[in-house]
Amino acid sequence: MNYETKWGKKVWLRVHVKPLANRNTVTGAQLIIDDITEKKRLEDDLRCLSVTDCLTDSYNRRYFTQKLEEEIERARRNGNTFSLIMLDIDHFKSINDRFGHNAGDLVLKNIVELIKNRIRKIDILARWGGEEFVILLLDTTIKNAVRLAEELRESLSRMDIPGVGRVTASFGVSTYCSGDTADTLVNKADKMMYEAKAAGRNCVRYMNECE
Ligand code: GH3
Ligand code: MG
Ligand code: MG
Repeated sequence: MNYETKWGKKVWLRVHVKPLANRNTVTGAQLIIDDITEKKRLEDDLRCLSVTDCLTDSYNRRYFTQKLEEEIERARRNGNTFSLIMLDIDHFKSINDRFGHNAGDLVLKNIVELIKNRIRKIDILARWGGEEFVILLLDTTIKNAVRLAEELRESLSRMDIPGVGRVTASFGVSTYCSGDTADTLVNKADKMMYEAKAAGRNCVRYMNECE
């Protein structure tokens, strides 16, 4: 049970209660109370670590893949639409080389902040790898996903990051088509992201329709 002490401290207690009986009459109770607050805190930390990328406080790849698979299942059953955005920071290696690894880390955190402030609570932003991120957009058509990607690209390119200045990213967008798996969906977004790189970076490319 969650308990507040008379000094206002919130603690988690595990309470075992055993009746003491004399023949058929309950004459009392034996209570064992453990303070398991610390154990609970560790459990919460572990749960958080298992789904989160610690540096940026976005979701991790494993959690993202799990949610993507659930969404594919839902789309197969109910025919709902959803889309994916993949983005990769442009010339990130040279940001690290010029300003140092800590500045590079700050860029990653700032980008996550910016995206989180713009997407809905139900969307899932995850760090896919080093300087690559993916966003799972529930109930979103390709058209709206592209519009959002374009908006994110634009606001990112205008953001001033302390000690670094401006950075840009290249975006690829894909949408669920029947028969897609988590791999094919991510690959489509990845392929489009590479097209954006090839087209000169700081732009959005998308897989137009389902073949
Ligand atoms: P491109 O525009 O083609 O994407 O070029 P790029 O330099 O961004 O691509 P590349 O894949 O060559 O470099 C990615 C760099 O990201 C290399 C790696 O050191 C850096 N990186 C990966 N993870 C982290 C991290 O957690 N923190 C920092 N600061 N850098 C990281
Ligand atoms: Mg990359
Ligand atoms: Mg890059």
